[in-house]
Parts: sequence; C-alpha cells; structure tokens
Amino acid sequence: MKYCQGPLCHTYDTKDRKRGPKGNKVNQTRRRSQFYYLQGNACSMQCERDWFEKFGERALEYFGRITQPIVLQENNAWRKRYRWSWQSDNNQASHYFHNMCTGEERDITEQQFNDDNYTLNT
Ligand SMILES: [Zn+2]
Repeated sequence: MKYCQGPLCHTYDTKDRKRGPKGNKVNQTRRRSQFYYLQGNACSMQCERDWFEKFGERALEYFGRITQPIVLQENNAWRKRYRWSWQSDNNQASHYFHNMCTGEERDITEQQFNDDNYTLNT
C-alpha cells in the first residue's frame, strides 16, 4: 500500500478520505495498492496536476531543462512501419524501416519488427 503523492489529496472531500470516529473525523491522503496517474503515484488526474503544479518547475530544473532544440536527423530518424497487402487470398503485412528525414525505406522481417532492441538509429 502506498499513499497518493498529490499534495492536496487530503483536501478533496470524499467519503473514502474520511477517517476517525464520529465527531472527530479527519480527511486524509488516499492510500491504495495501485494508482493510475503520475506513473502509479497519484489517485486522480487532479492529484497528478497538483503534483506538477507544486513540483514540476523544480523537477525540470533538477533533471535538466531542454535549452536547445532536439534534432531529428538521418541517423536517428528510422521508424518501424508496416503495411498490409491484399494479394492472393491472405492478407500479408510487410514490415520496414522508414526514415523520417530522407524517406528511405528498408525491408525488415516481422521478427526484427517485433524486437524492441532492433533499430537502425545510432
Ligand atoms: Zn490523491
């Protein structure tokens, strides 16, 4: 079990956040075994947004801000693609690399297509 990392989670008034005996209730941060936001660390989109509102700027400074454009060029512009062909009776997919800069195409096997480590990018 872990707590939602939303800094304002406890301020949203829902039944499941209430704890304590009658007359002495408190609202507390949600606790679950699994969350679906903020990569499994926030209970809702609102809590995810709250987190970024409070920490996002610092996170960018800490991890390094992009200060120059990141460039897609020939050597890192290969993307895997496939197309269907309806020749004869069976539909067949052909797999290939497409270079987003040059438009060049290179055929690959389905196995190479499915291999996440197989790339032409350098
Ligand atoms: Zn939350």
